[in-house]
Amino acid sequence: MNYNDFLELLSEPTAARLEELASHAHELTLKNFGRTILMYAPIYLGNECVNQCAYCGFAEKGEGVFLSVKEALAEAEILHQKGFRHILLVSGERRDKVTMAYLKEVISALHKKFDSIGLEIFPLEEAEYRELFLAGADGLTIYQETYDRDVYKQMHGQGPKANYDFRLGAPERATRAGFYRINIGALLGLNDWRAEAAALGKHAAYLKKKFWRAQISVSFPRLQPSSSKFKPPHPVSDRDLTQMICALRIFQPTLGLVLSTRESEALRDNLIPLGLTQMSAESKTNPGGYSKKFWADEQFEVADKRSVEEVAAAIFAKDYEPVFKDWDRVFI
Ligand code: SF4
Repeated sequence: MNYNDFLELLSEPTAARLEELASHAHELTLKNFGRTILMYAPIYLGNECVNQCAYCGFAEKGEGVFLSVKEALAEAEILHQKGFRHILLVSGERRDKVTMAYLKEVISALHKKFDSIGLEIFPLEEAEYRELFLAGADGLTIYQETYDRDVYKQMHGQGPKANYDFRLGAPERATRAGFYRINIGALLGLNDWRAEAAALGKHAAYLKKKFWRAQISVSFPRLQPSSSKFKPPHPVSDRDLTQMICALRIFQPTLGLVLSTRESEALRDNLIPLGLTQMSAESKTNPGGYSKKFWADEQFEVADKRSVEEVAAAIFAKDYEPVFKDWDRVFI
């Protein structure tokens, strides 16, 4: 399938053939991934951020909550006891607090207990990614938010995040530094979803071709209510999201597809057979959320509030297996 075929799968006329698309996507996912869903959970390290993204509940936080190394490890311990072995460390941009020394200390300590440590933080230089990889991190999640430069500028007027190109280059810098699980995405609702999906598919295909030994994945973060009260200018329906997921699966049959607890339980359950390979569960999007030590704002509202046991049961009910430990490590 070439890029033009992918664009046709994303088109409006193809929306009328969604069942056909879903069936094809299902077959390709079974062939390439079997009946497994890799489970992960995020740990929010802090809710302070120097950026002012129009849509984020953390924007322009003054003094908020920031976990000490000990507090971050306590959060991780709760997830470990629940069975998680893949975790994602999330933080707003506060380089004076989320320092390299802090990150290395947290990562090195977690590396002893977790099989995979992903980062969802501000973009770094290649040498910094290398330091964190050597400390034990292996995954990077970084969303371009929107691939449209004008929309990007409107949404990220101030702060370091205004640098579109530095953010766009982050997945490549991280992969060159050794990271082998790369997850990209567009924040759905900021711009026309078909335009974003077209750019995202091209970006993913480029990364897969250039870094063929890494696992490249795509997430589908759809704008949800947050304390910013931002209204998405281009709402994306469940049907649109389903078309996008199926089209990406058919275009890139070995691409990882990730769906977080931003989405409702009904939608997540229905999308399991269509192409998903990773899901989060029981996520808290505020720092200290698992230990309930702080009453901090969430970055966004979680829609699927089920426990990890309930999500696992729903996956089993679809005849799939939730996997907490991924043995398939790729060494570069
Ligand atoms: S989206 Fe990220 S970078 Fe933007 S304000 Fe929120 S935490 Fe900061």
